Amino acid sequence: MLLLGTSASWAQERVTEYEYITLPYALDALEPAISRRTMALHYGEHLRSYVENLNRLIKGTAMEGETLEDVVLMAEGPLLNNAGQTLNHNLYFLQFSPSGGGEPSGALRRAIVRRWGSVDNFRLAMEEAARTLFGSGWVWLTADGAGNLYILQEAGGLNPVRRELRPLLGFDVWEHAYYLDYENRRKDHVNALWQIVSWPVVEKRFENN
Ligand code: MN
Repeated sequence: MLLLGTSASWAQERVTEYEYITLPYALDALEPAISRRTMALHYGEHLRSYVENLNRLIKGTAMEGETLEDVVLMAEGPLLNNAGQTLNHNLYFLQFSPSGGGEPSGALRRAIVRRWGSVDNFRLAMEEAARTLFGSGWVWLTADGAGNLYILQEAGGLNPVRRELRPLLGFDVWEHAYYLDYENRRKDHVNALWQIVSWPVVEKRFENN
């Protein structure tokens, strides 16, 4: 199953090694929403560890060579944690841009307005989901096969592909994503993320349904 279809590296060939993605922007490019220091740890250390653990844990299992999404669908335990966090962070870091912000357009905007009444109401619903998620996890805007949208809270490193929903936009609310910059003010961090969301990337994920 290929759910995302947004990157040539996720083509349906056998995977020999799961990729540690290269950022399409500099470590300080998302300031002030996300500091260089947080990026150096979050991308440079946390994501690197998840990818290294994934590549180590999958060796010799029946899942070796499957696409990253298929591994997330099939795995359990530590392999699921690391594959899920690799997929989550690939989606997360690639959905931001120093020239981001503004509002969604096109089919995605219409689907958001159909579901929440307005883009502002949608933003409030994402912020509320982020505020009320207990502990470490993620908040996702997702779509089903018919293009209906849902906001999901996922604990730990789980990803909506396990519920047959396509992840479009993900907010990481693990403390490592914001504590250096915002301390315990998760709400302020989430509000700042709207300034760097690259809506064209999110729209493309939606239109690939
Ligand atoms: Mn993270």
